Amino acid sequence: MVADDAIPSIISRDERTTPREGADSIIAAIVASARDAMSRAKLGPSDILAAACSSPGPLDHITGVVHETPNLVGFRDIRLAERVAEAIGTKVFVDRDTCMAAIAEGLVGAARGAKDFVYVTVSTGVGGAIVSGGRMIRGATNTAGEIGHWPVGFQPDPTQSADADIPRCGCGGYGCVEAFAAGSKIAEHYGAQSASDVYAAAERGDARARGIVIRAERALANLAVGLVNAINPSVIVVGGSVAAHQPGHVLAPMHRAITERAFKAPAAAVRLVPAALGADVGMHGAVLEARERAAGRGDWFL
Ligand SMILES: [Zn+2]
Repeated sequence: MVADDAIPSIISRDERTTPREGADSIIAAIVASARDAMSRAKLGPSDILAAACSSPGPLDHITGVVHETPNLVGFRDIRLAERVAEAIGTKVFVDRDTCMAAIAEGLVGAARGAKDFVYVTVSTGVGGAIVSGGRMIRGATNTAGEIGHWPVGFQPDPTQSADADIPRCGCGGYGCVEAFAAGSKIAEHYGAQSASDVYAAAERGDARARGIVIRAERALANLAVGLVNAINPSVIVVGGSVAAHQPGHVLAPMHRAITERAFKAPAAAVRLVPAALGADVGMHGAVLEARERAAGRGDWFL
């Protein structure tokens, strides 16, 4: 990893809502957004070394193909890097949003200097990335680190249908951390607009909201213990909007569970900390990743 680095400065930005009409409209929006940001900064394609595109996974960051994304409508086996590159006329590197966030937190954020760390985001979804021995774990098909779909719940009675009391995840599985603890799922289980409404209801003593919140806490607690016992990180960085707004319901139960239930040696070695880079973490990671990959560096995260 690069030892000394600075947080990239953002000179232009364009934000828009993700379309829900399928891949073509999403790619068109990405391209339009990139062009607007470029023109506002008075930059053409030839002024730009490389672009990076952060996407939900699973995806292959080497081929630039996004395989399937539970939270994006109609996005399956899309050659995202190639299609965006053709449209905007620059080199484009694609990676999972959480990998880019981990690159930023590892280089210039809360995990700076750590060789073994896990980045976890608790936001609309739950996700993450794992860095072990100074390298990001990519796995056999470059899709490793999808810890939001680590199952922590199971159906105790095999005679019941699996969906009787275990929530179904957007990935099609049952009992994933994301199905219990993602902001969108917490809101959905309660029938609220947003997770913050559910946390507020739980605060007022609403029993159903409290049940949903406690279940989410237990799912995150199990994830934390699993990460500590299985991966042995020195830092777990917890980011995402739900974690930022509800640290007492996200970081606190994870920390408690590690202290109470993980193996003593890895538990004593790990720090569970909030993310340092806030909502722009993905953008910072994208810039750092594009710069490093364009220069032929970045071995540790490829
Ligand atoms: Zn899942």
